[in-house]
Amino acid sequence: MSTETRFRLLLVEDEPTQRLMLERQLTRAGYVVDTAENGQEALNKILEGRYQILLTDWDMPGMDGPTLCRRVREANLSTYVYILLLTGHLTTDDAVAGLSAGADDYVRKPANPSELLARLTAGSRIVRLEQSLREANEKIQLLSITDSLAGTFNRRYLNDQILKEVERARRHDRPLAAIMADIDRFKRINDERGHASGDEVLRQFADLAKSLIRPGDWIARYGGEEFVIVLPETDAIQAAEAAERIRAQCACTPMALSTGHIEVTASFGVAALSRVPQSIESAADALLRDADSALYTSKNEGRNRVTIANRHDLSAD
Ligand SMILES: [Mg+2]
Repeated sequence: MSTETRFRLLLVEDEPTQRLMLERQLTRAGYVVDTAENGQEALNKILEGRYQILLTDWDMPGMDGPTLCRRVREANLSTYVYILLLTGHLTTDDAVAGLSAGADDYVRKPANPSELLARLTAGSRIVRLEQSLREANEKIQLLSITDSLAGTFNRRYLNDQILKEVERARRHDRPLAAIMADIDRFKRINDERGHASGDEVLRQFADLAKSLIRPGDWIARYGGEEFVIVLPETDAIQAAEAAERIRAQCACTPMALSTGHIEVTASFGVAALSRVPQSIESAADALLRDADSALYTSKNEGRNRVTIANRHDLSAD
């Protein structure tokens, strides 16, 4: 978010003239101002998560300012709300009570307009800092789970996420499938076209696969030229159909590389989550192992094909 972004400010004041006056001042100062007449109305609006700054009166019928502060903090919103408390309560104890309720700062009423704006500007700096920190964290988080070469998730993400998928499938008694895909004769592409072309093939194959899977399905690079596609809510047959779509599309569309066009095929192994009672970890391992051995069969039987893993566990059903 750029520094020019105008912050959304929620003004909470039960006294109509005060409210109107403050609203005008704040709008003139560049804030996008919304108002609430009492604490409860304010809380409902804040929970929608659209405000960066909350400017609230202390004394209001129903929920007062400090209670509102406390409730906002308890809501643990995903983005920070800077809270400035307007108060006619003048003792140090009051100030301490307001700040411990969750306010970031307070201004005594009647508020001097330039002091109020200066304090809001100081608050805006905090908001901006929190935003850039959060954006940086999101970026780091994304980089840490991305395979930068193929533009898919990486092995680390796969290792963590597959356990969650298995756990969810088990809990709701839903199917879960995995496709292991491996680009055929990849070494030859690297040898004949160079590694840069090999990298392009990885990227284009990943893009093709991504374009053919459903929202909710996801793809990770397993290593080398091997990918895993995880398909929640999907049984082995449906997963094999998905794999077949990718296989067929890949085989019939030559890839345009910077070194010219190239025909690329891939082999696939498909497996579904076993119902054999075992730990989440073992079930996830078995799922990937089954898909991998089915992939091995596809390779042995001439590549450019889809194999569904043998269901060793049918007798257990
Ligand atoms: Mg009041």
